[in-house]
Amino acid sequence: LAGNEWKKDPTLVKVKDVEVGGNKVVVAAGPCAVESEEQTLTVARAVKRAGASLLRGGAYKPRTSPYSFQGLGEEGLKILRRASEETGLPVVSEILDARDRDAFVKFADMIQIGARNSQNFTLLREAGKMGKPVLLKRGLGNTVEELIQSAEYILMEGNGNVVLCERGIRTFEKSTRFTLDLGGMVAGKLMTHLPFCADPSHPAGKRELVHSLALASVAAGADMILIEVHPKPEVALSDSEQQLTPDSFQLLMERIKALASVL
Ligand code: PEP
Ligand code: MN
Repeated sequence: LAGNEWKKDPTLVKVKDVEVGGNKVVVAAGPCAVESEEQTLTVARAVKRAGASLLRGGAYKPRTSPYSFQGLGEEGLKILRRASEETGLPVVSEILDARDRDAFVKFADMIQIGARNSQNFTLLREAGKMGKPVLLKRGLGNTVEELIQSAEYILMEGNGNVVLCERGIRTFEKSTRFTLDLGGMVAGKLMTHLPFCADPSHPAGKRELVHSLALASVAAGADMILIEVHPKPEVALSDSEQQLTPDSFQLLMERIKALASVL
């Protein structure tokens, strides 16, 4: 179903009134984690002002250490909903557990499946039944073909609204947190009719690298870009090193628009 042997035209994924997969790049931005109403509203207003189309924030966080901040849970989703009502930006948020499905159906506009759950086949099937578009990230150790097979689980349930996301893979290279595989994304776009998102924030790991990786992703043909933004990145409760300040995000948006206009 995800392959383009039978479907030649690119799929447009609708997230409320935002279309992913057209000729323009859709930018989703927001904090790694929802930490408070004030923090989320501040970022939501800033990214809206800068031209983002989707608000992305984590309410349930998949953390390597169980002692790290795990997110505000359902309260985080409610905060995102309020930020969406104020700004008009549809909300993208990651689900970790199918038992939270009702809260996601109620409060989120797009369901993110993170890298660590990219092959959680029961969760993929469940996401296919939720009636919402899905942002499916590539697993840290998965090939592009495996990512497309994961999408197949969602499509099989009758949900064709899936955006694939290149977010970097584990390699021997240590100069970035993960290796952003833009070659894989370009190759993947030739294998499927589904749109591709690129997340330059997580593979960068350091904010100094985010602009270049984001612009490279746009140049490589990403339909959507995901950028982490925090009002005070230095005190963020997760991914503090890679989140952009609102000012830096605004500058990045100007650079993305300038680049997109010549592609
Ligand atoms: C995230 O998007 O905040 C996240 C945890 O990403 P990933 O699943 O790609 O690590
Ligand atoms: Mn993050």
